[in-house]
Amino acid sequence: MSIQFHVDATSGPARAGRLLTPHGEIQTPVFMPVGTLASVKGVSQDLLEELGVQVLLGNTYHLYLRPGVDQIRKLGGLHRFMAWPRPILTDSGGFQVFSLNDLRKVTEEGVTFRSHLDGSAHFLSPETATEAQIGLGADIIMAFDECTEYPADQVRVRTSMDLTLRWAERCKQYFEEHKSEVPWRTNRVGTAAPGCPGERELAGSAALHSAGRVRASFDCAQDRPASAQTQSLFGIVQGGMNLALRRESAQRTIEIGFPGYAIGGLSVGEPRTLTREIVEATVEHLPTAKPRYLMGVGTPEEIVEYANLGIDMMDCVLPTRAGRHGLLFTSQGKVSIKQARYAGDDSTLDPACRCQVCARYSRAYLRHLYASDEVLAQVLNTVHNLSFYLDTMRSVRHSIELGSRAHFLSGVQSQPKP
Ligand SMILES: [Zn+2]
Repeated sequence: MSIQFHVDATSGPARAGRLLTPHGEIQTPVFMPVGTLASVKGVSQDLLEELGVQVLLGNTYHLYLRPGVDQIRKLGGLHRFMAWPRPILTDSGGFQVFSLNDLRKVTEEGVTFRSHLDGSAHFLSPETATEAQIGLGADIIMAFDECTEYPADQVRVRTSMDLTLRWAERCKQYFEEHKSEVPWRTNRVGTAAPGCPGERELAGSAALHSAGRVRASFDCAQDRPASAQTQSLFGIVQGGMNLALRRESAQRTIEIGFPGYAIGGLSVGEPRTLTREIVEATVEHLPTAKPRYLMGVGTPEEIVEYANLGIDMMDCVLPTRAGRHGLLFTSQGKVSIKQARYAGDDSTLDPACRCQVCARYSRAYLRHLYASDEVLAQVLNTVHNLSFYLDTMRSVRHSIELGSRAHFLSGVQSQPKP
């Protein structure tokens, strides 16, 4: 068994559940912060744990280019490499590769692309993208798909959707044949990398002692999934903005059979009302017993809305990226902390927020840090934004457990935003 999913409570289409992975339990609906290069920019792993981050997202494309999958595999996999014992999800690299408009060529076999780092040529296919994700060793990995651009005509959307379905079958076949090669299983015998199952007998080795107390406690206490466990490969529903093609994509992806299903190809420039319409229509065709992951969304208001539609998992760069650019999400709307009007503002950023930034610092100080380009500005802004997103999801889950629709933030939209 790779994952188990239990729905504990429902409220309309919304569900509160538990997703059990080889590296621990995830309470859903869940927001997954993005740690592109095995790091949530500016925030250390111990702080992420303190904030209550349950699962991180890593980007295969970026890790594939730097430091390279082989390097991470040799170091025991992504959990061990980045000292993150909790669950990880990796994307397939498809979305990033498809964003390289002028640097890629798509064929039936896969995608040839040039690195954004040094222009070197690379090839990703359903097989190589799955191989890379097995090497990284995340708990949940994604099928290699083609993210259809927006806008696109119906012929183009169908062609792209059919390609994604053929690729999904190839991903599944490769995964089934190679899933035992995940680092935290395969390192069990032979030259075991620290942190993998069954490696307890190496705990007294000189290598571990020299690695220091923190590393040793990480090895011993946490990163030990049961050796019979493997990763889980999720399928991705495409079909552009066409409701009939979305239904067909969902049905044919379910026929291939995956332990979880993602909705891809959204948040690609379409109006938000259309995103919502597609999500609502697609969710209807997904099995209730499997986790549903909406990729790449959204604002705090939107993640509440999508959870209410029955989405279990979401990820977005918005809280971290916006934080680094001085845009802060609060219970009273967005705050652009760079504005001069906050220079003398001694008040708390968000009186309703319980995060350590709001407990300690004033808007004036946060504004000063940002205006002075201090590294601490990025750290504190990111910590607050992540706290706000995670608190939002905790409130949503609580509302679902109480059987009421999540109304968190419902007052926000009616207020003027600075
Ligand atoms: Zn805060």
